[in-house]
Amino acid sequence: MVKMVALDLDGTLLEASGMIAQTTLEQLAKISEGGCKIAIATGRPYIRTLDPLKKNHLYPQGSFPQFLICEERDVYELGEHGYVDWESNQATLEEERSHLSLSHRLLSQLEKIAPTLEFAINNAYSQTSRGFVETYFVYPHEALEAFEVLTDLAEGTPLKVTRNSRNVCLRSRKVGKGLTLKRVADYCSLGLSEVLAVGDSHNDLEMLISGVVSATTNNADEMIKEVVKQTGGLISSLDRSLGVGQIIQRVVGTGE
Ligand SMILES: [Mg+2]
Repeated sequence: MVKMVALDLDGTLLEASGMIAQTTLEQLAKISEGGCKIAIATGRPYIRTLDPLKKNHLYPQGSFPQFLICEERDVYELGEHGYVDWESNQATLEEERSHLSLSHRLLSQLEKIAPTLEFAINNAYSQTSRGFVETYFVYPHEALEAFEVLTDLAEGTPLKVTRNSRNVCLRSRKVGKGLTLKRVADYCSLGLSEVLAVGDSHNDLEMLISGVVSATTNNADEMIKEVVKQTGGLISSLDRSLGVGQIIQRVVGTGE
């Protein structure tokens, strides 16, 4: 039986407008009242995670989501007076930040191996405050090429490479939606088989294959749909928030 639902935001719970379908909001409220925990699992920083919650009237007045996994690393828990960040957030940020110089060395090597690849990079402030290097490519196929080269270069190092369409990030191997969701599930004394996770793109992959009940929406990357299919998960026939509603109705609503 599913006792926690973990949802990606962009491309999954949120429409392109930033809104969530009213019917899906009502379903989430209903399962939350029934004791099912709701978690957001996003690559967004905390402040930019709150924006859509405010827009959909889930913050500051809401009783869910009970957990926010932000930056694929940091955990915020809903308390009486809003979200409280977990004490461990600082240590995980510092661990990731300690690999910034290695990230720069790998990017220099990428520039030598593939000198015609054009990309922008987040600035020093962003790297220090968020703890990692993020690169932006013009075309998805260039991001894929960089992803493949960097993945080879990062082998045997504390870094892993993640890709989300045209963005490629160098992240600590100790972070990720899957690992962080496991920490939240452990904290709630839940096994991953009691967690339904829904995501649409590459940075959701690790979470979707971590032993959870996996699902994805109709608009998801083909590769993600294939992986969800292989893990026996559900692919909704609807896009984004309506797709999430359909998944919740089928998986949580029937008590599977
Ligand atoms: Mg997404």
